[in-house]
Amino acid sequence: MKKPAGEKIAKGPSLEAVRHSISHVVALATLERFPKAKLGIGPTIENGFYYDFGIKEIFEDDLKAIEGRARELLKQGLRFKKEVVTPAEAKKIFKDQPFKLELVDELKKQKKPLSVYKTYDKSPKDPLFIDLCSGPHVKSTSEIDPEAFKLTSIAGAYWKGDEKNPMLQRIYGLAFDSKKELDDYLIMQAEAEKRDHRKLGAELELFMISDEVGQGLPLFLPKGARLKHEIMNFALNTYLKNGYELVNTPHIGSEKLWDRSGHTGFYKESMYSPFGIEGENYLLKPMNCPLHIQLYKSKPRSYRDLPIRWTEMGTVYRYERSGTLHGLTRVRGFTQDDAHIFCTPEQIEDEVKKALKLTMYILGAFGFKDLETNLSIRDPKKKGDFIGADKDWAMAEKALKAALEEMGFNDFSYDVGGAAFYGPKIDIKVSDAIGRKWQLSTIQFDFNEPSRFDMTYVDQQGKEQRPLMVHRALLGSLERFMGVYIEHVAGAFPVWIAPVQAVVIPVSEKFNGYAEEVKAKLEAEDIRLELYSSAETLGRRIRTAEMQKVPYILIVGDAEMKSQSVSVRKRGEGDLGPKPLDAFIADLKQEIKDRK
Ligand SMILES: [Zn+2]
Ligand SMILES: [Zn+2]
Repeated sequence: MKKPAGEKIAKGPSLEAVRHSISHVVALATLERFPKAKLGIGPTIENGFYYDFGIKEIFEDDLKAIEGRARELLKQGLRFKKEVVTPAEAKKIFKDQPFKLELVDELKKQKKPLSVYKTYDKSPKDPLFIDLCSGPHVKSTSEIDPEAFKLTSIAGAYWKGDEKNPMLQRIYGLAFDSKKELDDYLIMQAEAEKRDHRKLGAELELFMISDEVGQGLPLFLPKGARLKHEIMNFALNTYLKNGYELVNTPHIGSEKLWDRSGHTGFYKESMYSPFGIEGENYLLKPMNCPLHIQLYKSKPRSYRDLPIRWTEMGTVYRYERSGTLHGLTRVRGFTQDDAHIFCTPEQIEDEVKKALKLTMYILGAFGFKDLETNLSIRDPKKKGDFIGADKDWAMAEKALKAALEEMGFNDFSYDVGGAAFYGPKIDIKVSDAIGRKWQLSTIQFDFNEPSRFDMTYVDQQGKEQRPLMVHRALLGSLERFMGVYIEHVAGAFPVWIAPVQAVVIPVSEKFNGYAEEVKAKLEAEDIRLELYSSAETLGRRIRTAEMQKVPYILIVGDAEMKSQSVSVRKRGEGDLGPKPLDAFIADLKQEIKDRK
């Protein structure tokens, strides 16, 4: 249950009713064109709806014609009327519709009430169209803007998603309250396509997915690996400067470990099958926590040792269905900028605040300033679904809330019941350059593992206590973060993080020597660059560097060589003219330092 801060009050009919009503009208228009088509289902989806038809094939021009006819029908002010029917009545209505008959039987078996929606034109005679449906619908299509919908595509889809069933033709449509919203959405879609990190990943030679290696397992080419390395270094160095210590643990652990942590129980679905080593079972790690706990338990701990903050760029493996895999944003193996904080109850609020502050700093450095925070707490009516003592939950929820408020996140929303079964958490979403929201950071309490592993520390009175444990990952998964970030900046990385910060291009072979000199000088200053000294024309090499979205292109010829300078072209700004090499280096280093 989500409670957004300022809920929008609907003025006209609900978008759900609009989308669903258009889907019926599209079905009517499709039946007019293909009277023998058999009706599947026609639900609403994000941004629109679809309708499935048992029919041989639908082509692009059919789609255009159906869209045009549906628009005409919408303008006629068709009326929707609900009728509750008995299974026998429903069977009579849908006697020529085998898929609908199947649904009627199912609903009958589940003892669910049956209803149909009838669509009429102005006259109250026979309905134009009847669908098995529980609504909601608009009263009349005059409530719908006929220009605010669009049929977008046709795709094959098995009845009920089961490949043993017949293949149906699915018509997808978009629908919004107004034409403006539809247009905005289409513009955003086109922009999102241009920014697609899978497309940019290939064009900019960042990463690849190889069928021979396997799905959901991205491989990083030199530029992508460099980008990943720079992101990782920035995050890690920031953590180390802020009281974290670096730890390192293996990618696999024995089944005993995962049994004790409980993962083979509650996390089984996300883990890969065990494999044997010398008669003992091992599993790929889906999380780093149990291994960090082993490090904690390597010696007795006192309150003086706390808080402990341990970070690891930990690579974990989690099962994702092949159908859900997507570029870098949904993969089967990924590296988290993970950390675990072990502390006392007195320290917890301050620790959460520090983690929030770090989150703002880290995400801000990448240009994500617009953060949306969400506090997931236990559903007090379903305490049985969550482990841990009432007083611990109360303390943890209070600490998270206080930290959010003190850090200025006053507009956070509550997700009641959204907590993990082992503790409450804060999730943070960012808005990207085209307004899409991505969940990246998470700060989570854990009441499960400290007790499963019997973790302790000795307090000031010499008594054994259980430490509090917090998991936190600020970028989340580095792979996913990279996918989001590539789309956020559309592949045009700011100079501080760009895998190639500058390209040196000699105007002709004669100046290769000076170009090498420039390259050596920049490299000595830790600047990442490439030299394009091929036989290709100057224009072509400049074009290549521009296509690669390199922040700086440095062109060198006779004048530059004589004056020990470079002609600078800056991405997005064009030709800036000649600049003494030393001055260029000094300015560039400042720009990198400032992370502009
Ligand atoms: Zn309906
Ligand atoms: Zn963890």
